[in-house]
Parts: sequence; C-alpha cells; structure tokens
Amino acid sequence: MSSPEIETLTQALARLPGLGPRSARRAVLWLIKRRESALPALLEALSRVQESLVECTICGNVDTASPCAICADPRRDPRSLCVVEDVADLWALDRSHLFAGRYHVLGGRLSALEGVRPEDLTIAALLARVEAGGIDEVVLAMNATLEGQTTAHYIAERLEPFPVHITQLAHGLPVGGELDYLDEGTLAQALRARRPVG
Ligand SMILES: [Zn+2]
Repeated sequence: MSSPEIETLTQALARLPGLGPRSARRAVLWLIKRRESALPALLEALSRVQESLVECTICGNVDTASPCAICADPRRDPRSLCVVEDVADLWALDRSHLFAGRYHVLGGRLSALEGVRPEDLTIAALLARVEAGGIDEVVLAMNATLEGQTTAHYIAERLEPFPVHITQLAHGLPVGGELDYLDEGTLAQALRARRPVG
C-alpha cells in the first residue's frame, strides 16, 4: 500500500504518452529517491512550462511568444509552408535544419475510427493562410500512416483551387513511420526528395 500522495502522482504520470502504470510507479520511486537533487529542477521546469508557453496563433507551434520564433523570423521563407500533424513533427523537421519556410500544425489527423473530422483540425485556418496569398509551395509532411496519407489527400484536394505548388514528403519514410521517431538523416532525405502530390 502506498500513500495517497504517491498514488495521485503515479496516476498523473501514467497518463503521459508512452508511460503506463508500471513505468509511472518506477518514475515516482526514482523521484522520491532524488527528492533533494532532481525534484526541484523538475518542478521548476514544469512551472516554467505552465507560466510561459503559449500556442502560436498563426502556426500552432508551442513557444514562449505568439507569433512564435519561427513565424516571427524574417529569414524564414514566407513563400514555403510545411503542414504537419503535430507540434512534435514540427520540432522534428526543424531539427533537420533543411526546411527554411514556415509551418502549419493541424493538431492531429483525420480518423474515421476516432471520429476526427476536418473541422476538428486547423484545416480552415490553413486554407485561409493560403488564400491570403504570398505562399508558393505547400509541403504536406504527414506521417506515412494510412490516416496521415488520407489527411494529405484531403488537404491536397482542398488546396486545388489555389495557385500553389503542392508537394509531399518522399516516402523513403518507412510505411507506418511517424516523423517524430525518424532519425534526422531519413527525415532530411524525405524532405529533400519531396514530390508533387498526384
Ligand atoms: Zn508560429
């Protein structure tokens, strides 16, 4: 029997992606043993996240300011827009330093199974950005999953009326592959070899 404090923390951690109850319990024990050394830094980092992080109203990135550092950076090419499912994908692509344009975070992917519809994603905002003009290329950087590809096709269709070049990551991406998990080399190659959506 563990104390209610430990149970509450374990349950909170168990909700994190990739952690189940077992790993959560191990993490809690680890933290308890390092109450003096590791816990203050973790608490500080968590409260900083709560206090200072916001969602960029333009692209959906998470940063300390809105517009985010990427949207506000004048060296970024405003004519090139890369559409990703999640913020983690944006970060993964941006770590590769190969894409010099700006981003648009959808906030997920279309899924009949999970009931995710176009209006649940930021597709309307994406169309508005393209409609506003000044964008020449839209790179659809969806995951190489069935749902990711369905989403890419749907967006490509919706973008058809606009005078933009639509490209897609080349799928040297492993089938079922999620961007966030790829090494930078694979990701860089997929971005370099992007192709028109057909
Ligand atoms: Zn932004």
